[in-house]
Amino acid sequence: MNDLLIIGGGPAGVAAGVYAARKFLKTDLVAEEIGGQSTVSEGIQNWVGTVNIPGTDLIKAFKEHLEAYKGDNLTLHEGKRVESLTKAQGGFEATLKDGSKLSARAVLIASGAARKRLSIPGADQFEHKGLTYCASCDGPLFGGMDVAVVGGGNAGFESALQLLAYCKSVTLIHKYAEFKADAITVRKALEHPNMRVLTTTEPVEVLGEKFVNGLVVKNSETGETTTLSVSGIFVEIGVLPNTGFAKDLVEIDAVGRVITDPRNQHTSVEGVWAAGDCTDELYHQNNIAAGDAVKALEDIYIWVKKQD
Ligand SMILES: Cc1cc2nc3c(=O)[nH]c(=O)nc-3n(C[C@H](O)[C@H](O)[C@H](O)COP(=O)(O)OP(=O)(O)OC[C@H]3O[C@@H](n4cnc5c(N)ncnc54)[C@H](O)[C@@H]3O)c2cc1C
Repeated sequence: MNDLLIIGGGPAGVAAGVYAARKFLKTDLVAEEIGGQSTVSEGIQNWVGTVNIPGTDLIKAFKEHLEAYKGDNLTLHEGKRVESLTKAQGGFEATLKDGSKLSARAVLIASGAARKRLSIPGADQFEHKGLTYCASCDGPLFGGMDVAVVGGGNAGFESALQLLAYCKSVTLIHKYAEFKADAITVRKALEHPNMRVLTTTEPVEVLGEKFVNGLVVKNSETGETTTLSVSGIFVEIGVLPNTGFAKDLVEIDAVGRVITDPRNQHTSVEGVWAAGDCTDELYHQNNIAAGDAVKALEDIYIWVKKQD
């Protein structure tokens, strides 16, 4: 049986993979994709050691770093998905989508999170017909058009900044009075002449015929309803943890995040650790995900050696 199974290939999983290999822990790393959520970003400007790194370059750097340690200790299973994780004789067993199984004495869950979906009339009907969850993937299709962004966090403002480069106008809709995004990102977006912001406002209905042609929004303070004439809607309203495969094994909170001890990333089950956006960590950032995974690895190493 291997020492460690790492589930995830975002900043948390990759950091863990590198540390595990350097500690000579026999490790399997399973990831549907190497990179993680921010790799759809055109420029990540707070990954320590790089002033501005495009998502595509971050994926490349992650892969290179893992490849450098691949071999006797680290085995990569890229493009594979874990469907379930259970206790097994001497450790834990993961069942993959292709039916294969991997077992290990210890597990690090680093499976991150996925986009939260908009649930208002018209949202499902017009998905991929003007309503999208990825500005950097679909944004250029909306060149010269009026578009809306739903969400006032970092992802919402980053999407708006990308779209401002080619869209006629961008209207950002935010539920609250205060923005959750970094002040510097907000300032940059608000300085743009084609940027408009509606605070204390929520989307109510997506309108269209074949494609989106409008978004009905409601101001929660005045109760006033307005129809924005837009051809594109970019949704950035947060994320949901990818923890379904572990929900019967470890303790999770009401929104599906793995509950961890912040001192060492330990979960409710001995032998299982978790790090990054799949946990109840308050802040979601690449550096935090990587740091928490490193913290977990230090603890995993001591634990594994005690079992020998
Ligand atoms: C658009 C956008 C822009 C962002 N910009 C920034 C930024 O500029 N700076 C910053 O610090 N943070 C940014 N963030 C936040 C940052 O991306 C996350 O905090 C970070 O990616 C979390 O890393 P993670 O490793 O925990 O999880 P993730 O990045 O979500 O990675 C999860 C990994 O697990 C894999 N996986 C999931 N489920 C399974 C499964 N069942 N089986 C196998 N593999 C699985 C995925 O394929 C992936 O490899 C941004 C986020 C978004 C959405």
